[in-house]
Amino acid sequence: MTPGVKPLVAGNWKMNGTGAALGEVRAIVEGLSASGSAVADAMLCVPATLIGRAADAAGGAVLEIGGQDCHAKESGAHTGDVSAEMLRDAGASAVIVGHSERRTDHGETDATVRDKAAAAWRAGVTAIICVGETREQRENGEAERVTSAQLDGSIPDDMTAGNTVIAYEPVWAIGTGLVPSNDDIAAIHALIRDRMEARFGGEGRKVRILYGGSVKSGNAAEIFAIDNVDGGLIGGASLKAADFLAICDAVP
Ligand code: PGA
Repeated sequence: MTPGVKPLVAGNWKMNGTGAALGEVRAIVEGLSASGSAVADAMLCVPATLIGRAADAAGGAVLEIGGQDCHAKESGAHTGDVSAEMLRDAGASAVIVGHSERRTDHGETDATVRDKAAAAWRAGVTAIICVGETREQRENGEAERVTSAQLDGSIPDDMTAGNTVIAYEPVWAIGTGLVPSNDDIAAIHALIRDRMEARFGGEGRKVRILYGGSVKSGNAAEIFAIDNVDGGLIGGASLKAADFLAICDAVP
């Protein structure tokens, strides 16, 4: 954790969930409401098709709803794309940009991600900007270099702690059950914090840095206790309300 920074636990449903999954959203809202004091902010980033209904189910109180990608433009001839303004209109308060699955499946570069982050800010939604190395890069000792380069290239200059969240997600830890050692997580998060402070000063000191990649109820408490880990971006374990709530409970 970072002193004075409110943690965030954000779920990433990826391409999962139809209307039948709204029961999980309701159960999460009930669970968060029942647990009273919110030590952390909670958010679910759902498929674009579910944002409106999930936002209705969440009711705007204890659970924020986010999207998983946006186009850089506000509107226009971009068949199949969704703008940040549209996400906000549907009820999203944040959007994930630069997830490794988008970088890989859609060839998104740092420049693409930077434009999308700027689009999120233009629309008034928080950009959750993802960075992280592949297994090969980690094995070659390049985790620091790759993560630093992605950070530098993916964040526009007018970043603030209010409009942005950084998520460190080593690609090899996503959906694999593999997690870096606590020391390795600590080292990369310290590097990200230093870099953010060097570039953005006080805003960089306060910006939330999430860890993502195989966070479960069983390992969340120890990961969240690491310096500069201000919560998590949770994939598979956010699909079921009980798992997600247990992870929210693990915030110290
Ligand atoms: P995972 O995914 O928790 O299923 O590893 C994390 C993510 O991709 O955001």
